[in-house]
Amino acid sequence: MEVSFHDEIEHLKLGDGDVFHGEGILAVTKALLQSGVAYVGGYQGAPVSHLLDVMVQARDYLDRLGVHVEACTNEASAAAMLGASINYPLRGAVTWKSIVGTNVASDALSNLASAGVTGGALIVVGEDYGEGASVIQERTHAVALKSSMWLLDPRPELPTIVRMVERGFELSEASNTPVIMELRIRACHVRGSFAASANRAPPISRRELLEGPPTFVYERLAHPPATFRQEKLKFDVRMPAARKFIVEQGLNEIFDGSEREVGIIVQGGLHNNLIRALGQAGLADTFGAARIPILALNVVYPLVPGQIREFCAGKRAVLVVEEGSPEFIEQEIATTLRRGDLNTKLHGKDVLPMAGEYTADTILRGLERFLAAAAPRLAGGAGAAYIAAVDALRARAATALGALPPRPPTFCVGCPERPVFAAMKLVEREVGKPHVSADIGCHAFATFEPFSQGNSILGYGMSLASAAGVAPMMARRPVAIMGDGGFWHNGFLSGVSSALLNGGDSILLIMKNGYSSATGTQELLSSPPAEAKRAAREQSAAAADRHIENTLQGAGVKWLRTVHNYRVAEMAATLKEAFTTPEPGLKVIVAEGECQLERQRRIRPLVAASLKAGERVVRTRFGVDEDVCSGDHSCIRLSGCPSLTVKDSTDPLKVDPVAHVNNGCVGCGLCGEVAHAAILCPSFFRAEIVQNPTWWDRLAQRVRATLIGWLQPA
Ligand code: SF4
Ligand code: SF4
Repeated sequence: MEVSFHDEIEHLKLGDGDVFHGEGILAVTKALLQSGVAYVGGYQGAPVSHLLDVMVQARDYLDRLGVHVEACTNEASAAAMLGASINYPLRGAVTWKSIVGTNVASDALSNLASAGVTGGALIVVGEDYGEGASVIQERTHAVALKSSMWLLDPRPELPTIVRMVERGFELSEASNTPVIMELRIRACHVRGSFAASANRAPPISRRELLEGPPTFVYERLAHPPATFRQEKLKFDVRMPAARKFIVEQGLNEIFDGSEREVGIIVQGGLHNNLIRALGQAGLADTFGAARIPILALNVVYPLVPGQIREFCAGKRAVLVVEEGSPEFIEQEIATTLRRGDLNTKLHGKDVLPMAGEYTADTILRGLERFLAAAAPRLAGGAGAAYIAAVDALRARAATALGALPPRPPTFCVGCPERPVFAAMKLVEREVGKPHVSADIGCHAFATFEPFSQGNSILGYGMSLASAAGVAPMMARRPVAIMGDGGFWHNGFLSGVSSALLNGGDSILLIMKNGYSSATGTQELLSSPPAEAKRAAREQSAAAADRHIENTLQGAGVKWLRTVHNYRVAEMAATLKEAFTTPEPGLKVIVAEGECQLERQRRIRPLVAASLKAGERVVRTRFGVDEDVCSGDHSCIRLSGCPSLTVKDSTDPLKVDPVAHVNNGCVGCGLCGEVAHAAILCPSFFRAEIVQNPTWWDRLAQRVRATLIGWLQPA
């Protein structure tokens, strides 16, 4: 990874009396070190990638503290790391994106939760739910409930987040239970300050090793008959201990208000949005003091029945603000009230949507409905006026603008994966349209226009496995597409080995760009080493590595081709061969080309240094000769590069716009390759921009200009 986290690492070193200022996820990272964490692992994914990325780059500093950091190959291996806290008083933390990562980790998590822990175990999950999310919309809450792991959902402000990390470890130890902390996208990126403390070197660490052999305690194995006792311990011992700790340490917060006939119980993570909604309704000031009493649940599981009853007692009605479905919290509160024989009226999903993100706007609308039913004198004021004004504005905008065109995400300019899909489009003309099993990763952008390739996505590294049921039913071989990130995450075991075992006859296309690009260009087992990358300044650095090919051959793949992505005609020919060869068994094409984003990050500082030193630098760019462009735009439909766009022709006889390459072009060469492979109009030209030219460059340029001047008089 070429991104430097130097400044973030300096933040991690702050000590007593210093003030930390920064993002929520970096505050969590700092809080882990303040808590004396001994080991950290995880698998990257938004919105928590920074935690692990910063830790990995801070290895030198963490070594001095004795903290072990591991960039795991998937979430299952990260979760299994927490096994260290079962037997030993070691504090450990792992992180990943949820719900998808939690699904991958759930086998190890079930075993961990059953055995219980001695040292504090904290799982920091990025709750990728709501309008900015990139995964299926499910809640981590369900996993916490089914495995009986406690779930923290802190108010999105830095002092609370930091306190919940520190208390999270203590809660885990007090109740011998792993603790999950869910952080929504906004909580990870919220900025703020907190008074830092000095980092604590863990008492047992890489520097302070455990002496002697481990004690054998059968009851700590998640294995029958111990599992039967462990299930009872969860509810008879661990949960009461957790509830006691939650109350004694004041983990949930009660904010009193003057309108005590009603109240609101909110997931901690939604507190900011709730306060914003109350503010719009004229029921909270700009500093967050609300007139309606609020119980903010920084711990959403387990709930403390006594605390719920105490808050609800004497109130006519309570609103539960709980995002997503099912309404686990609301149902448990209903049970609690019924068992306590309290007749406080309960509102929640009756006035708020069952699914989708609870933005401040959404909460305000539910709040108005709640107030209209439970406290009419508070309803219909500023909140209703605000909603009416927003609705009127939206209606006016819709009338003025009409339906806006969709703007789907797409590959970066010059991405090496784009040419592969251009080749796929060319081959389709000859062999017909195949079933395409897509995967998680940048290549999933090909599901959008202009490629529209991908019939299913079943998970990270699962594309080939998901073609297993399709292949025997299809006259044409299906194509499974997978990145090198997906290959190492799960694809090799779940897809390749299963296909080899069962004699699968699919095509697997592996995008070998050298990194786990979609999650932030983290390193992989097959990433080229740093020296190779430095040496390969202009060419594809990924070319230096054959880990994937060697692994496939070792496993028994017979039909294996490696093709450079930008050679569109060669890629198309290889794909055609894979579709038509009579050879049975799995056919794998490794599409090789370094992630352009990472390549540009790597090259730009080198180019800048060369320019500063006065060295000759040549940049390649492509362009369109508008006199030649026929205006049919086949090139755009086959490329999709954002730099290949259209502009009005300067020729008055051409009424349609012509193709145009803008300044974003990184000169990847796809335009020329596509024009050649698809036999398009010869309008593309390749230009070299020479900076710090030599005397020879200047002379050659003068000769060329003179010649062109003769041949093309003005
Ligand atoms: S991050 Fe890399 S692999 Fe992903 S779209 Fe951009 S250039 Fe392509
Ligand atoms: S050569 Fe074409 S495809 Fe490549 S970056 Fe330039 S405009 Fe985009």
